[in-house]
Amino acid sequence: MFNRRKFLQSSVLASTGWMMKDHLEFTPKKGIATKPIVISTWNFGKAANAGAWEVLSKQGRALDAVEAGVKIPEADPNNHSVGYAGLPDRDGHVTLDACIMDEKSNCGSVMCLEHIVHPISVARMVMEKTPHIILVGEGALQFALANGFSKTNLLTPESEKMWKDWLKSSNYQPVINTENKASASVRMAPVPGGPFNHDTIGMLALDASGNMSGACTTSGLAYKMHGRVGDSPVIGAGLFVDNEVGAATSTGVGEEVIRISGSHLVVELMRQGATPGDACKKAVERIVKRDPEKAKGLQVGFLAMRNDGSYGAFCIQKGFTYAVRTSAEDKIYESESWI
Ligand code: ASP
Repeated sequence: MFNRRKFLQSSVLASTGWMMKDHLEFTPKKGIATKPIVISTWNFGKAANAGAWEVLSKQGRALDAVEAGVKIPEADPNNHSVGYAGLPDRDGHVTLDACIMDEKSNCGSVMCLEHIVHPISVARMVMEKTPHIILVGEGALQFALANGFSKTNLLTPESEKMWKDWLKSSNYQPVINTENKASASVRMAPVPGGPFNHDTIGMLALDASGNMSGACTTSGLAYKMHGRVGDSPVIGAGLFVDNEVGAATSTGVGEEVIRISGSHLVVELMRQGATPGDACKKAVERIVKRDPEKAKGLQVGFLAMRNDGSYGAFCIQKGFTYAVRTSAEDKIYESESWI
């Protein structure tokens, strides 16, 4: 995919500041796309990338890297939007959604899974050990327990307190994460239950052999209806990987992403020639176009990588960040936004 023209273009773009928009990673001397590379959503993606990098830097498989990477926020008691300590649904159940996809379009997913700290590993097991792609709820739990996972209470005292505070108003309202913003133009009023109440770790990796994989895992929108499933475990919505083209993942209000098959759309736009950043932007525009007024009050962010290691992101509201790890960098970038 890489050629001299593209390299020159990217050098010009870099000098005009457009690298903010769409990052093309080149090793400084040879001018070839960087590989391996891992990218993931939000500031907490940095710690997750470190887990993935352990695998990628030893010539490991992208699939192993994304699983190892997202397990870090899944186990983090301070992360209230993924895995253990995730904010519960309105009835107090922590229900987790996760999916994984490899370079051969093998995929696995669990939806509305309770009591398991690492839903991503269950999703991988669904992919590798069953003839199915998706297991939900009780069935997913039964499968996990039969395969050696142990039951854990995912509701920590802190997240239980947030839920109990929320119960006083019981007003379901996804609240945008603006904490990561460099300059905040949209501030949401603080709500009981924290300054924001949803996020997801979506991770995409390209390994040294040129294979891509992705993983996506979340506790979903806080205080959702019991049984609600978002975009994150839906292949084509929260995550899509096509080794011939690239991969994409999403975060934000899942209902809006499902409506447009968001991550699949981003990959198909890249197939038609869009850069990762422009493909993410077009997907966001499709959400905004449907209902611009509604879009002003919600967040959706897409993150994409082409199979040459180039990457980009776009979101509705300012404040969506993503983390990048290569042999040359370990950084967090702020995504461009519609607002
Ligand atoms: N996409 C997730 C969901 O809808 C939440 C998020 O990423 O903020 O469940």
